[in-house]
Formats: sequence, C-alpha cells, structure tokens
Amino acid sequence: MSERKFKVQAINDEILEKFSLKNRYAFLNNNLTSILSPKEFNFLREVQRFCMRYEKKNNITHGPNEDIYDWVRDFGEKGYITRQHTFDICDIHYDDWGLAADLMRNIAIDMFDPQFAMGGGATVLAINPVYEHHENIPQRLEALKDMITGVSPGAILITEPERGSDAVHQLTTCTPQDDGSFLLNGIKIYNTNAPRSKWVVAYATQEQNNGNLMAQFLVNTGWEGFGVERVNIPWVPKLYLGKETLTDVRVPKEYILGPVGKGREHLFEGLVPERISIAIMGVSECWGALAHAIIYANNRKQFNQEILKFQGVGFLLADLWARTTNLTLGLLKFCEAFDEKYEKFGGEIPKNISQAMVASASQFKYQASKLAKKVCYECANACGGAGLCDNTLLYDYLNISRIQEIVGGSRQIQQYIMSLSLRTLYKMSVG
Ligand SMILES: Cc1cc2nc3c(=O)[nH]c(=O)nc-3n(C[C@H](O)[C@H](O)[C@H](O)COP(=O)(O)OP(=O)(O)OC[C@H]3O[C@@H](n4cnc5c(N)ncnc54)[C@H](O)[C@@H]3O)c2cc1C
Repeated sequence: MSERKFKVQAINDEILEKFSLKNRYAFLNNNLTSILSPKEFNFLREVQRFCMRYEKKNNITHGPNEDIYDWVRDFGEKGYITRQHTFDICDIHYDDWGLAADLMRNIAIDMFDPQFAMGGGATVLAINPVYEHHENIPQRLEALKDMITGVSPGAILITEPERGSDAVHQLTTCTPQDDGSFLLNGIKIYNTNAPRSKWVVAYATQEQNNGNLMAQFLVNTGWEGFGVERVNIPWVPKLYLGKETLTDVRVPKEYILGPVGKGREHLFEGLVPERISIAIMGVSECWGALAHAIIYANNRKQFNQEILKFQGVGFLLADLWARTTNLTLGLLKFCEAFDEKYEKFGGEIPKNISQAMVASASQFKYQASKLAKKVCYECANACGGAGLCDNTLLYDYLNISRIQEIVGGSRQIQQYIMSLSLRTLYKMSVG
C-alpha cells in the first residue's frame, strides 16, 4: 500500500486503495497513449513496471523516515538515472535514449516519488558535462560510470552565497600550479545532492568577478580541503543540499573539464537540457497531482454526489488538465525535435539552431514551473483536507512545485532571457 505515509489516517480505506501507483499510472497512460510513439510508450511502461515492483518489493511507503538516496543504486543498475544519452564510451548501451526517452523516464519516476526524481535530475546535471568533456581520460570515465550506474549521486556547484542569478561573476577562485593542477578556494551553496555525492562538477574563476577566466572542474568530495554542510530546504526535506567550503582543494589536471577561459561556455552549453529537464519535472508534477485529484474527485462524495460533478471542482480540474496536456504535447514535440537534430548533426547542433533552442528552453522552464505551482496547489485544494494532510503524495507535490521557479534560473531570469531573445528576433526579422 504505497500511500500510507502518515501517523493518523484521514482518508478512508476505499479511496486510499484507489490512489495506488498502478491506478495513477493507468490514468497517465490513458492520457498519453494516443500521442506517444509505440517506442516511447513501451519505454514509459517499462519504467513504470520497475517502479511498481520496486515499491512493493521494498515496502516503500514514501514516509518521512525513508532515505531516497538508498534507492539510487538500484535505479542506476537498471539504467534509470538518465536517458539523455547512451553511454557506449562506458560500455553502457541503451536502446531508448534522448530527451524524449528521458521525458518518459522522468514522468514515471516522478509519479513514484517526486523528491527522488528531483535528486536524480541533479545527478544528470553533473553527468552531462563529464560526458561532453571526458576526452577518454580514465579518471573522468570512472566518475561518469559511477554516476550513471548509481554508485554515487552527483552534484553541480555553480551557486555561491553572494552569486546566485549572477552566476558568471563568481568569487570562488582557481589558481594554477606548476604541475598543471589547480587549487580551488571559495564557498558554494544550495547544491542538490552534494552532501551525499562522491563526484561534483564545480565552477571557479582565475580572477574574482571575471567571467572570461572561468574554468570547470570534476571534483572528488573526499579530496582534502573539501568541506560540506547540509542546507535544509523544508519543502524538499528528503533531499540533501550542500554548502561547501573549498580550502586549497587540489584538482589534478586529469579532472579539468574546461580550462580557464572555457568555463563560461561550458556553463551555458548545459543550459538547454537542464531547463528542459526542469520543465519535464514540472509537467510530471502536474500529472502526479492531477492523478490524485481526479481519482479523489471521482470518489469523494458531498451533498450525496461525487464532488467532480460540482462545477467548482469539475471545471477547475478540466482546466488544469487541459493546460497540462497542452504543455506536455509542446514539450514532447520539442524533445523529439531536439533528438532528431542531435542525431542529424552527430551530437553537434549548429550554433544558430542551439541559439533558438535556448529561448525555447527558457519558455518551457518558465511555463512549466509556473503551471506546476498552480496545478499542484489547486489539485490539493480541490481535495480539501485530504489534499493537505500527509496521507498522500499530494503534500509532496504541493511543496516541491514551489521551488521549481527558483532552480535552474529564477522566473525573472527566464523572462529576462526571453526578452533579450525578442530583441534578437526583431533584429533578425525586421533589421
Ligand atoms: C531547492 C534548490 C536546489 C538548487 N540546486 C542547485 C544546484 O544543484 N546547483 C547550484 O549551483 N545551485 C542550485 N540552486 C541554486 C539556484 O540556482 C539559485 O537559488 C538561483 O539561481 C537563484 O539564486 P539566489 O538564490 O542567489 O537568488 P538571487 O540571485 O539573489 O535572486 C533573488 C531574487 O532576485 C531576482 N533577481 C536577481 N537578479 C535579477 C535580475 N537581473 N532581474 C530580475 N530579477 C532578478 C530573482 O529572480 C529572485 O527573485 C538550488 C536552489 C534551490 C532552492
């Protein structure tokens, strides 16, 4: 019984049974069958089957005492940490891979457990730069394999206590040494998974506030001088976020993913998949919340009627459902187009196309996080007290949806990026 995460039962047995992961997946699948390709649908079902069996076999209740990091290795062994790429370079071959496959993976895992899905998303942010810049160096391939197969989560260290949105004027420094290594010094913060990760990807600059002199490093958190404390984010109490103090952390040259001068470029190259992944997380949260609310509204009776039949509830859910479906369709189309171009251009998408995708990724991230906040709140609200107590995952959706607008660049930053794109588009179109 997946939903019993509470001390006091507020919802009756009959409705709680109906909230099973199996039923929530069935609701999602009936919505998506007509729009997914058979290959996408089969992969979605494959991940769902694994999640259902895993939940049952391990008696997972999603209760407050469970440690979501305990599950990372099992999902890694099945190849469910990321499907953005296949990893032939590490002797890992997936049939289903690309952004669209990753959408399937994420939507299935998010319905299983949204905080676990978010932790996985942060690992992917660390996997991608190592994948792009491994240069066949064994140390980098080892780290890559550890993260893909769930031996360790990964984290990305961009944000600093004094530099958040302004990520290119960093204060953390990297000082070159005679043997080709670098010494890192500075403080990073809010880095998802960092306290539980063996590997992190960190950014620093040779001169404070100088974005032109940024570099990118792969760091083992066990190295001398790497200190980490946990930052508590009450809306995602199961995730471990870090505040790291780097004191003369020596990074050998094999671990320099981007030399001084390349750091900023590497930071930006990861932004399209990162923002699309956050958008995917947002729509996944919408589907998770909707599945709960629609099951509830079809079963809960007041005034002798299922509450769905009252316009106040039924029309509200219809509106949220329509918006979620439309955004899912848009996102799926984007992912499929991205995958096509990735294949056509051998993994090197031309600059003019990738430039246009930066704006699209911001549009999706902006809209999906805004929608998730609205849908998750309204779905919980439509369930009355049942949506606010701790008997279901709705409470997790309500909380986690509130941080999506901040992670990966705030709402205002996305608006700023989009407004700059409007200037470029105007110049391209009108002159
Ligand atoms: C749960 C969680 C997970 C995170 N995970 C990671 C991670 O894994 N790795 C990592 O490096 N970071 C991570 N972050 C950090 C996140 O990316 C930053 O919090 C975010 O970029 C905002 O930075 P800040 O918190 O310093 O806010 P600030 O940059 O100080 O912004 C404060 C407010 O000012 C607004 N603002 C700032 N500049 C402008 C502007 N030019 N125009 C308009 N408004 C502006 C912002 O929109 C915001 O509302 C995470 C944060 C959270 C909460």
